[in-house]
Amino acid sequence: MQYLPLFVKLTDKAVLIVGGGSVALRKAGTLLSAGARLTVVAPDFATEFLQWQQQGKAELIQGYFQPALLDGKLLVIAATDNDLVNAQVYDAASARNMLVNTVDDQPKCGFIFPSIIDRSPIVIAISSFGTAPVLARRLREKLEALLPQHLGPLAELVGRFRDNVKAKITGFAARRQFWETVFNSDVVRDVQANRLPQAEQKLTALLAEPQSLAGEVYIVGTGPGDPELLTLKALQLMQQADVVVYDYLVSPEIMELVRRDAERLCVGKKAGAHSVAQQDTNQLLIDLALSGKKVCRLKGGDPFIFGRGGEEIQALLPHNIAFQVVPGVTAAAGCAAYAGIPLTHRDYAQSVQFVTGHCRPDGSEPDWHSMSRTNQTLVIYMGLMKAAHIQQQLISAGRSSAVPVAIIENGTRREQRIITGTLSQLADLVTQHDVSSPALLVIGEVVSLQQDLHWFGQRAQAAVFAQPLTHIA
Ligand code: SAH
Repeated sequence: MQYLPLFVKLTDKAVLIVGGGSVALRKAGTLLSAGARLTVVAPDFATEFLQWQQQGKAELIQGYFQPALLDGKLLVIAATDNDLVNAQVYDAASARNMLVNTVDDQPKCGFIFPSIIDRSPIVIAISSFGTAPVLARRLREKLEALLPQHLGPLAELVGRFRDNVKAKITGFAARRQFWETVFNSDVVRDVQANRLPQAEQKLTALLAEPQSLAGEVYIVGTGPGDPELLTLKALQLMQQADVVVYDYLVSPEIMELVRRDAERLCVGKKAGAHSVAQQDTNQLLIDLALSGKKVCRLKGGDPFIFGRGGEEIQALLPHNIAFQVVPGVTAAAGCAAYAGIPLTHRDYAQSVQFVTGHCRPDGSEPDWHSMSRTNQTLVIYMGLMKAAHIQQQLISAGRSSAVPVAIIENGTRREQRIITGTLSQLADLVTQHDVSSPALLVIGEVVSLQQDLHWFGQRAQAAVFAQPLTHIA
């Protein structure tokens, strides 16, 4: 981080501006809105400066910069159109260890003015440190549109209740839960509709209610890896949780979006390596919820598709633990979309089957005949280890050895690889290209479209990660 964002209290603090033109004017306006006491030195002044002087908001000194003017000032802004004068101000202030902002000259800036989104008392500052101002401006516009105007009054209202809440509800976690309840309640809708007295009444009533510390479990699907495939609901619950229980399929980029101070517990590692047994994970969820925690159980893809979400919920039921399930984009849907493979197509596949490559608990074989139908797409999860067996069984059950297949490794992620060939090559492709987990096998006529539609996958991927796909035909 080149500059540390700090929020500085400028009320009644002395600030010197060198320059009296339009650039100086803009900075002066921002500083005045933060309550600074301005001294402005310049040979000439824009008219607004004269008005501010009359209103007692700024002291104007007609003349040239002298180092003595720095005495007693907290900040200095060099805003003249003369580089030499700006350099003189910068040198003199730096010699005194003061913070200087030289307009349009970033190397001569000890501090910078960020773009500001003002929903006081909520204020957001954005800066690209001068490297990409247009990008920063676009981001600001997006945030401006995203952040409702009622944020300010809402923050102001809850600010007035803070001390009362602190006195009534002891314990940080309980207080956080109280505020989560408030922000999910009608208090927000009242503020939104400018019904402030009603909002205040409701907040008072909520505080008067005894606080229940009931825990809850959110079973949340996070999709196959690209964080932009998360649902809004998933993101919201990831931000509310006290503790997050996750496994290896949840990508690091997604873990970045979890509430900063939530506890994080990993319960799964890659196939073959140690991982926590399902029963222990169930017990962990129960224990955490019974201790009053909001538990966010993050799962790759969709929790109800080869995700054991159902088993976890069954474990919670006898304990009367409240839960919510949030669906996610399952690997088949995400990987196929990013690879340019439509899972069904009027001409090529009228149905699609999602199956697991894992053995059944009783060791029996699945129904290979139903999986071998032509004009049907077969998507195999967890099929890497069994690729040779799958290939052989499908061909024996009547699937053509020439039917196209795709292996999608790390689908939707930065490292996505798509390997295509025919069913007769399936196991060899896995070995030759040293494919590792997570990977999905897609078998069916639709895979032949990948050649033509791949540009789509590439473009979608490029838009997200600005990096082309590796395509091995
Ligand atoms: N609930 C998950 C599936 C979990 S089973 C879902 O709905 O997607 C784990 C298997 O999913 C992996 O072995 C792999 O076959 C597949 N998988 C998950 N994420 C993947 C990804 N990003 N790319 C390719 N395959 C993936």
